Amino acid sequence: MAKSEKYAVGVDLGGTNIKVGIVSESGRIISKTSVKTEAMSGPKVVIKNIKKGINEILKNNKRKISGIGIGAPGIVSTKKGTVQNPPNLPGWDEIELGAIIKKEFGLKVNVENDANAAAIGELIFGAGKKFESFVMVTLGTGVGGGIVFNHKIFRGEIGGAGEIGHVCIDPNGPRCNCGSTGCIEAYAGNHYIKESVKKDLHNHPSSKIWELIENDLEKVSPRVIQMAAELGDVYAKEFIHDLGIKLGVAFTSISNVLDISTFIIGGGVAGFGSPLFTTIKSTMVSRVLTPLKHRIKIVPAKLKNEAGILGASALVFYNT
Ligand SMILES: [Zn+2]
Repeated sequence: MAKSEKYAVGVDLGGTNIKVGIVSESGRIISKTSVKTEAMSGPKVVIKNIKKGINEILKNNKRKISGIGIGAPGIVSTKKGTVQNPPNLPGWDEIELGAIIKKEFGLKVNVENDANAAAIGELIFGAGKKFESFVMVTLGTGVGGGIVFNHKIFRGEIGGAGEIGHVCIDPNGPRCNCGSTGCIEAYAGNHYIKESVKKDLHNHPSSKIWELIENDLEKVSPRVIQMAAELGDVYAKEFIHDLGIKLGVAFTSISNVLDISTFIIGGGVAGFGSPLFTTIKSTMVSRVLTPLKHRIKIVPAKLKNEAGILGASALVFYNT
């Protein structure tokens, strides 16, 4: 470890938990903590909890901190440090989060959209290191996306770029949280996966999923589907295959538009692993425009659970 190594505080602002960590410039997590977001109590309480988490992590810290990086949901202006309408944090119209945290701690603060922060984390510390350009897709409660082009995040006009979850694959498809229909998030979001299997499972009485959930449909989860597939369950395997086709169709459009051929996939649903990745790739290869065909790469994310903290801290060290 270099003596001159720098340290930052990374804050991953989620709808349920706020994860905070001290991270070195090389991506080593020195310490971490987690506090409840209490999103339903509104922005004042959430901001108080962010401060609480940072105070907790700084309490016994003797290292010099270069700054604080925050990954937040919603549309983030990286210049102004504002967070606008985060979907899982009710009551946040537009909050000057950067300025508020800077005033409290007297440190440089960088705020970025959480999906972009995850992409930056993979770019600096993870699976994105060896690529100049890639699309980062996080398959979780929602479907998040971050576009990296020539080592830089592509942010669009107001910081809203990369909303891959809302690429439509069927205008007559299920309703999406965003108000539209047939968005890829309405197929691949955690909640949709659960609901769709719950509805469908009665048509598959011999599925191993029944045993795994002890006949309690409330226990259906992506993890259970994965376990059933690993046991060779035909229905679970078909479900993952079908999801791979849908994601592949959505990613094909993105690849054709951007001329970017590498997709890094993270989040809980990425746990479906190689059966999912193989189907995404074969679907894309059969559909993308010819010059892209031999270049398509589907790569698992490397940072897993700490992606949020690492991505947020990277904001302090690297100007992307
Ligand atoms: Zn949508």
